[in-house]
Amino acid sequence: MTPRNATKSPAHTKGRQIDGQALDVVRRLLGDGPRHKDLLIEYLHLIQDAHGHLSAAHLAALAAELKLSQAEVYEVASFYAHFDVVKEGEAPPAPLSLRVCQGIACEMAGARELLSSLKDALGGLGEAIRMQPVPCIGACDTAPAVALGGNRIANASSSIVAQAIADNMTESTIPPYQDFDAYRKDGGYVAIEACLSGQKTPEDILDQIDASGLRGLGGAGFPVARKWRFLLDNPKPRIVALNADEGEPGTFKDRHCLETAPHKVLEGALIAAWTTGSASIYIYLRDEYPHIRHILQTEIARLEQAGLTGGIDIYLRRGAGAYVCGEETALLESLEGKRGLPRNRPPFPANEGLFGRPTLINNVETLAFVTDIINNGAESYLAAGRPHYYSVSGRVRDPGVKLAPAGITVNALIEDFAGGMADGHVFAGYLPGGASGGILPAAKGDVPLDFGSLEEYGCFVGSSAVVILSDKDNIRDVVGNLTDFFAEESCGQCTPCRAGCEKLSNMIEAGDWDEGLIRELAEAMADASICGLGQAAANPVLSALNFFKGDLK
Ligand code: SF4
Repeated sequence: MTPRNATKSPAHTKGRQIDGQALDVVRRLLGDGPRHKDLLIEYLHLIQDAHGHLSAAHLAALAAELKLSQAEVYEVASFYAHFDVVKEGEAPPAPLSLRVCQGIACEMAGARELLSSLKDALGGLGEAIRMQPVPCIGACDTAPAVALGGNRIANASSSIVAQAIADNMTESTIPPYQDFDAYRKDGGYVAIEACLSGQKTPEDILDQIDASGLRGLGGAGFPVARKWRFLLDNPKPRIVALNADEGEPGTFKDRHCLETAPHKVLEGALIAAWTTGSASIYIYLRDEYPHIRHILQTEIARLEQAGLTGGIDIYLRRGAGAYVCGEETALLESLEGKRGLPRNRPPFPANEGLFGRPTLINNVETLAFVTDIINNGAESYLAAGRPHYYSVSGRVRDPGVKLAPAGITVNALIEDFAGGMADGHVFAGYLPGGASGGILPAAKGDVPLDFGSLEEYGCFVGSSAVVILSDKDNIRDVVGNLTDFFAEESCGQCTPCRAGCEKLSNMIEAGDWDEGLIRELAEAMADASICGLGQAAANPVLSALNFFKGDLK
C-alpha cells in the first residue's frame, strides 16, 4: 500500500497529466530564474507571445512548474482578454490578431462599418488573421483605430489595414520621446537628487504637494498629500504601485505622458517612494501600449545604470486586457498574479496592499505633476490654475491631449483647445469623464470640469476624458455602446453589477426605456456593488433619461 505522504508519480497524479514536451517549452521560456507565483501573468504572456495562444498542455505544465493547481492557472489565464486559452481538441486561433476598437470614439468614427468592411476585405485571410472587436485601446484621438499585432493603426480604413498586413507591419512603432539624456540635460532628476542628498526632507515634499492642492488624476481625485501621509504610520517595507492601466473609454492622457516624457513620471514615482519610505515601485502597464513597454524597459535600465534610484527597486508589470484592473485593488490582485477582482475594503491599500504590505497607488499623470510641482513650486502650479491633461475626442476638429486649467468648461475646451467642432457637426452633448462619468447636453457646456462640480448633475469628471457628441450622434447608440462596455468588463464578482449591467445592456438593445425599472436597477447597483465599475455603470442610462429623454423615442 502506498504511504499517504509518498510523492506521487505522474501516472498517479489526479487531473490532466503533464506533457513532457510542454514542460520543456515552459521551462525554456521561463529561463533559469526562480519561479514566483506573482509572476504568473508575466509567464502567461511569455507563452502567449511565443505560441499565439495558451494550450491546455502549456497551462498544465506551467502549473506544475510553479507548484500551483491547474485550476488556479486556468482561472487566471481565462480571466484576461489578451490570453487565448485553447482546450484539448480545439483548433488554435490564427497567429496574428487584428483588434478593431469598438470604444465610443471609434464607434462614432465608424468602427462598426470598419469591422464589417474588414471582414469582407480580409475574409480570405481567416487562417492567418484573427479579427476581434475590442473595447477602447486608448487611441480615441485617432479614431477609428485598430491594433495589428503590436502596431497601432490610426484613422484606420480597410485599405490602410490591408496595406499594413501586406507590408507585415505588426511591430509597435516607438514615437520620438524625451529619453534619459535629454531629460537630464533639461534638469531632470535634480529633485530626487535633492531628496537623496538630504537637501529636502519628506515633510518638505509633503508640504509642497499639500500646498499645491494636487489631487489624484486617475479618476477618484483624492488629495495626493493626504494619501501619501496615510502610509507613514504603517510598518515598512512599503510599496508604491504606479497605475498605468488607463482603460476608461475616451482616456489616453497617461499614454501621452509616458510616450512623450517617461522620466518625468519615473522621477515622480521615485519622489513618492522616497517620501513615503517605500522600498519598491511596481508599474502596472496596460497591455494595449506595447510601445510604452519598450520605452519603459529601455529608460528604467538607463535610470538604474545612472544610479539615481536611491536603492528603490523598479518593477515593470504587464496587464492583460481587463478594464477592471484600473481599479486600484483589482490592480493589486493582478500584480500578485491573480484574477483582477476588486477587494472589499477595509483593509485599505495604505494598510494592507500589495503582498500584504502598506501600498501607495498613484496614477501616471498624478506623478508627472508631482515632479513639476517639486521642481517649480506649489505657487506656480496654483498660478497656472492647477492644470492637467484632458483627453478630448469625438466631433472636434483637433482631438488630442490638451493641457488646460482645472475647471475649464467644455465650451472653452472645444473652441480654444480643440479647434472648434468638426465640419458639419453642431455641438449636442458630451461625456465629461469617459464612459462612467455620465453624459451632459450642450446646454450644460459652461459647467466647470473639475472634481465636485458635476456631481449635482449625476456626472463626474473622473480622468477628464471628454468625448464630444454632435447633432449627428444618436444618444441611444451612445448609451448602448457604453452599457455594453460595462456588461462586458464587469468582473462578475458581485450580483448587482454582474446582473445589473447585463440587464441594462439587454434593455437598451431592445429599446426598452422603462424608467422606473432602470432607476431601481441603478440604485441597487450604486448601493451594493463592490467597486466603482458597478457603482457608475448606470450613469450613461440615467443621464440619457435626465437630459435626452426627447431623443430616446
Ligand atoms: Fe466586479 Fe462589478 Fe463588483 Fe466591481 S462592481 S467587483 S466590476 S462585479
